[in-house]
Order: sequence, then C-alpha cells, then structure tokens
Amino acid sequence: MLQKVWNKTQESAKIDIIAIRPSLEKPKMKIAVTSLSERPTLLESTFAPKELDLVAERVQFLDAVRVAVTVTRMQEDVLAVGKATTKATAECSRCLEPVPLEVKGEFEALYVPDTGAYAARMGRRDFEWGDQRVNFYSELTVDLSEEIRQCILLELPMKPLCRADCAGLCPRCGADLNKGPCSCEPEAADDPWAALRDLIPPKGK
Ligand SMILES: [Zn+2]
Ligand SMILES: [Zn+2]
Repeated sequence: MLQKVWNKTQESAKIDIIAIRPSLEKPKMKIAVTSLSERPTLLESTFAPKELDLVAERVQFLDAVRVAVTVTRMQEDVLAVGKATTKATAECSRCLEPVPLEVKGEFEALYVPDTGAYAARMGRRDFEWGDQRVNFYSELTVDLSEEIRQCILLELPMKPLCRADCAGLCPRCGADLNKGPCSCEPEAADDPWAALRDLIPPKGK
C-alpha cells in the first residue's frame, strides 16, 4: 500500500491519502473526495519527478516538484486550481550546452464522478467545457497527477536556447561558435553560384 500524507495548511489537521491499488503502481496524487470540505482548502506537497512520470526528451528534472492546489468540493464535483514548480536543465537546441530552467506550471480542472449525469452524457471521456477542463473520477478518489504532469510538460520550451543569440555549433567541425570562430572556411556548399563565381574575374581587373 502506498501512503502519502499531505499537509493541510489551512487547517491543522492532516489528510492521509491512501492508494487502494497494489504497490506496483507508482505513487500518485490522490485525494479522497469525502475528506474534502465545501470551502476551498489549500493542499501542498512535493513529489519526486519519477513519481509523476515526468519524462521529456533532452530535459533532466533536477528538483522535487512542489505542488500547491486549492480544492473545493461542490457536492460531488471537485474543483482543483493549482501550481506546480520545479527546476530542470534542458539542452540548448543550437550548442547543446545545458540550459537551466525554472518551470512554473498552472492548472485548473473540474472533477466529476464517473457515475453522474456528465458521465451519462459525455461517455466518461475527459472533455473541455469552455476554458474548463473536466475530468472524471472514480471510486470517490480524485487523482491530480496527470494535471500536474501536463502543466509542467507544457511549460518546457520547444527549442531551448542558452541565450537568445546563441551562435550554435559549426556544422562541419562541431566547434562551439560561442567560444569564437573555428578554422573552417566559410560555408560554400549551400551556394549554387559559388563555383560559377570563381570562374568570373572580380570587377575592376
Ligand atoms: Zn546555445
Ligand atoms: Zn568549423
């Protein structure tokens, strides 16, 4: 059995979140719906990147993911508005040097029971309603891990750069051109007129 204890910071009480499934499953961010009150409650916790299945190409997550989420139960629906932050390094897309990243993601999702009226209408598939993401929960347990994971991944830059004017690597010798020019001749292969130009004497001769 997995057990995760959350600090319930607005009240002194603590909520124990217990995963019902066998221990083969990775720890997840689960909240028992019956433990929530109908006023907004701030929950905070930290997770190892592995626990959230955080994997991205050429990115290393260096720090625990800090999560702060305000959950409000509205009868059987649960609104979760949260933030997740962590530190990572990516590879510069031009020179391959590490680029430090401060990742700050936000999410907002409404969780509805998979036995309710929404489920009957929408076929239990998560959907968007206006700007609102709507997810289904089952067994009276809301699992925030996917929202947290996605809000972090969405913040990662598509083409990280160590600096806006990174000069990149020389395509021929691989030298880091940020450290100065390499000794390669200027690139001519892409210029179809280069060979022809050599045949024409420069003007003035
Ligand atoms: Zn670079
Ligand atoms: Zn070179």
